[in-house]
Amino acid sequence: MDPHCKLLKAQSNIIQLIASGEQLEHILLAIVANIESMHEQLYGSILLYDPALDRLGNLISRSLPKQFKKNINYIDIGPYEGSCGAAAFLKQSVYVDDIQSDPLLKNYRNELHPFGIDACWSTPLLSTKGDLLGTFCLWFKEQCKLNLVKFAFELYNKLAAIAIQISATTKEIEMYHHKVSQPTTEFIDDVDDESLLKQLQIGIERDEFAVYYQPYFTLSTGQLGIEALLRWNHPYAGLLAPHAFLSIAEKTGFIVELEEWVLERSIKDAVKLLRSGVNLHSLSVNISAKQLENKSFPDFVHKLLQRYDFKPEYLTLEITERFLIQRENIDVLHTLKQIGIQISIDDFGTSYSSLNYLKDLPVDELKIDRSFISNMDQDMNKQKIVEMIILLGKQLDLTIVAEGVETEKELTLLKGMNCHAVQGYYFSKPIPFSTFKEKYT
Ligand code: C2E
Ligand code: CA
Ligand code: CA
Repeated sequence: MDPHCKLLKAQSNIIQLIASGEQLEHILLAIVANIESMHEQLYGSILLYDPALDRLGNLISRSLPKQFKKNINYIDIGPYEGSCGAAAFLKQSVYVDDIQSDPLLKNYRNELHPFGIDACWSTPLLSTKGDLLGTFCLWFKEQCKLNLVKFAFELYNKLAAIAIQISATTKEIEMYHHKVSQPTTEFIDDVDDESLLKQLQIGIERDEFAVYYQPYFTLSTGQLGIEALLRWNHPYAGLLAPHAFLSIAEKTGFIVELEEWVLERSIKDAVKLLRSGVNLHSLSVNISAKQLENKSFPDFVHKLLQRYDFKPEYLTLEITERFLIQRENIDVLHTLKQIGIQISIDDFGTSYSSLNYLKDLPVDELKIDRSFISNMDQDMNKQKIVEMIILLGKQLDLTIVAEGVETEKELTLLKGMNCHAVQGYYFSKPIPFSTFKEKYT
């Protein structure tokens, strides 16, 4: 086939991939594969711009040698950061036809030499507004000035930029629709822990975190409570639910700072709701095991409550059942209880808690894990367990909350069992503060 016809056919294939909503990574890989098929001595690669870290990362490549890929996995942006860093910095194409003599590549020359790479071309990928999206790079194993390759390079540059922009827009739309139950994590799945921790730290500085609120209701009185649930407006991946980043935050200890932020933000929001006339009876905030190891935590909470003039009995701290095994954690709970704060055991039923063990804990509330509530109308065993937990709670003078109520049938059963309070998608998903305020004022 005539090379021009081949190129046109390849171009229309890429456009079809973009139009059919194919995953960004697959589209970019197809672009790299197409251009590599034009010349045997040629490698292609694409780097995406990471605005959180202000550098290039998330390398897309097909056939670059593994060791070489490691060297260019992340690239800083600047006039002497190789051809990609310079192209991103200057926002214009950079053609280096002889790596050995070009001063631009002086920092990378020795790294490139073992792979026999003589020349490289980099071009910035720009949005329609001119914002940096990434860079597209060709690496040549012999000096090569093929006009058709240059033509294809410019053509694919435009297609790659369109694909990245469409992918980002799709994510924004998803975010708008609050599709947080299946968060997009493809951009952060591949990132190592250290880099994610950095992104978390920058995220908090740049105010990328948000607290969503989910209501719960006391069945006998209709009294309203809210649970604060953390979200991360990730600059790439869109709105992320906690499971996408909490385990790293816990592992690195960053969770302590993050939870202090959640506490302050949610207390401020709860005060705003009370002032605007919302009949709010309780604010629940989730706390991790790491926080319970933090000796200054009770004092921190106490000061926050004083600063915002928020009554301690209006605040409930939810601690997951499995965290309560350690003796030291229980001591901290006693101190919190002395301040007047309510303590709730979250995900109750998922770990083993004997009756005797519960009796000695400074606890006010049990939250039955949603796995017992989900489809309980079709499962006698679940109904028996839930009923037993409610009876046990009554004996111990504990409030019982059923979480994850999704249907009217589940609600009717829980009412029949005299469950104290209910929470779940049947009433509302977690929603941003402004939406919550509008709905409940
Ligand atoms: P959780 O405390 O058990 O929170 C309830 C989770 O169940 C929330 O998920 C909520 O969106 C979801 N949910 C509520 N009702 C329903 C329902 O009817 N059906 C279904 N299928 N799901 C429902 P989310 O917001 O993704 O939070 C997940 C977990 O992340 C939370 O589980 C909590 O353990 C943790 N988390 C959230 N924010 C924080 C925080 O600030 N600190 C800590 N340590 N953990 C947090
Ligand atoms: Ca919870
Ligand atoms: Ca729970």
